[in-house]
Amino acid sequence: MSQQDLQKTGFHIEGIRKQFPVLRESAYGHPLAYFDNAATTQKPQVVIDAINLYYSTYNANIHRGVHYLSQKASQAYDNVRTGVATFINASSDKEIIFTRGTTESINLVASTFGKKFLKQGDEIIITAMEHHSNIVPWQIACESSGATLKVIPMNDSGELDLASLNSLITNRTKLISVVHTSNSLGTVNPIAELIRIAKQFNIPVMIDAAQAMVHEIIDVQKLDCDFLAFSGHKMLGPTGIGVLYGKSEWLEKLPPYQGGGEMISSVSFEKTTYNEIPFKFEAGTPNIAGVIGLGAAIDYINDLDRELIHQHEMALLKYATTQLKNIPGLRIIGESTNKEAVISFVIEGLNALDVGMYLDTKGIAVRTGHHCTEPVMARFGIPGTIRASFLFYNTTEEIDRLVKGIHEAKKLLGS
Ligand code: PLP
Repeated sequence: MSQQDLQKTGFHIEGIRKQFPVLRESAYGHPLAYFDNAATTQKPQVVIDAINLYYSTYNANIHRGVHYLSQKASQAYDNVRTGVATFINASSDKEIIFTRGTTESINLVASTFGKKFLKQGDEIIITAMEHHSNIVPWQIACESSGATLKVIPMNDSGELDLASLNSLITNRTKLISVVHTSNSLGTVNPIAELIRIAKQFNIPVMIDAAQAMVHEIIDVQKLDCDFLAFSGHKMLGPTGIGVLYGKSEWLEKLPPYQGGGEMISSVSFEKTTYNEIPFKFEAGTPNIAGVIGLGAAIDYINDLDRELIHQHEMALLKYATTQLKNIPGLRIIGESTNKEAVISFVIEGLNALDVGMYLDTKGIAVRTGHHCTEPVMARFGIPGTIRASFLFYNTTEEIDRLVKGIHEAKKLLGS
């Protein structure tokens, strides 16, 4: 669908852009074209206002205060837990644990599941396109338990070879942890199908949904995943806040992750008993402002016409793919038929970092390097890529500037 056609449906890009104050900024005298949304998204004014309002009118610690401010802050915090549960269709608020982000959510499961359930000779399965945060925690868990890590391979288009899953699964497979949407390739994995296969063998599945939440509607009950992790800052919310969803039957069985206040029921020098879920996993004063900001981000997303937003992002992906492919020497890494609006590419004879730095001088923000997916780069035999990741507030005019900038970089940098 063209942007003109989208306008007719009621999608007004300028109105949306006005809600994101950073998008009014310029860089080196050029209007900012922000294509680093897979690293972190920009924040709408309502999110900034919600955090500001908390700090300026009801800042207090939560859950243990009898006073007005503490009760107001506790109420706001608890409401967001309910909002998150509704957003992903969890069956109960108890299944929502606030963490620092996807990384901490995965570490929480790898550490506690590892301690309780992993033994010498057991196996964990991940995929060839994981972010480091869904590799290293499992390596640490394997190291301390004697378990081994197995990897579902991918093809040259950056698609998982799901057919190999059956041969990777054995009676020692204890968990499968898989990225929903690849941050470096854009691939959207066939999660539902993968979970269906895993369930035939009674194997729990964890989903890294860091890149999915802002683009896709996620229903954890429909997916039937056992754990799901995501970050606030990649879905219009603040940094330092994230979520771990876990089925309550799993969360009940797992030991605590960290010890401290809030996660206990009673403490004595002889014996400590733990709080019920989700508090068992939330030791210490949480990121209250972060939770409140995340709640505002979810409210904002809920108010969007998500079908239209997705159509716009797919139109941006299609437009950018066509334009970039016309550039001689440019190769797109990751050409799955099911992608989010992320394009990774290399340019023959040019260093990705040099291109990124040139684009930066024109106010165009892309990311270069391995994108915390070194095994993906190794699979494609490259040190890194240039990555443009789009969100619904991006425009085709910005993509035209990107394409022009790449042509200029090629001339200047000698490709
Ligand atoms: N998983 C994926 C797919 C990601 O893209 C990222 C961040 O880029 C992460 C996990 C880690 O997220 P965070 O740094 O917010 O914990």
